[in-house]
Amino acid sequence: MFFLGEIFLPYEFDSYDSPMPSRCGNCRRCIEACPTCAITDGWDFDSERCLSYQLIENRGELSEEAKQSMGSTIYGCDRCQTACPWNKFATPNTTPEFQPKSELLAMTKDDWHNLTIEQYRALFKGSAVKRVKFDGLKRNISAKE
Ligand code: SF4
Ligand code: SF4
Repeated sequence: MFFLGEIFLPYEFDSYDSPMPSRCGNCRRCIEACPTCAITDGWDFDSERCLSYQLIENRGELSEEAKQSMGSTIYGCDRCQTACPWNKFATPNTTPEFQPKSELLAMTKDDWHNLTIEQYRALFKGSAVKRVKFDGLKRNISAKE
């Protein structure tokens, strides 16, 4: 698991970053876990097939493949992450700001189908879920009806 972020500093440095070494060996678990075959055998990545792209960034219609593959998911995917054996070392974060709101955890299936824009704004204030926009989340929910 990883968390994307950026730090802006008022200094110049001689070196900034370097690629991580591959520790995959012969493992293929993420390839096999991917419901849309977005990760290909040659370690290429077809971003438009990825459910995280389809359910978050895509502003148009969901692909038929995404509709067939989303299962119980209405936002994102990350099945490749949960399949990765290295992630058994990951521990749940305890940062209060990153914990889900109790109102969110209490949502029922009917609540999701009847979600209003006011509820959406309150539930996801300050959250990355705002990336999908209200219409996009409703599209994802409707695809499961
Ligand atoms: S997020 Fe889901 S769809 Fe995207 S590459 Fe990972 S397993 Fe495949
Ligand atoms: S599941 Fe993890 S260790 Fe296995 S191939 Fe994918 S990234 Fe590498």
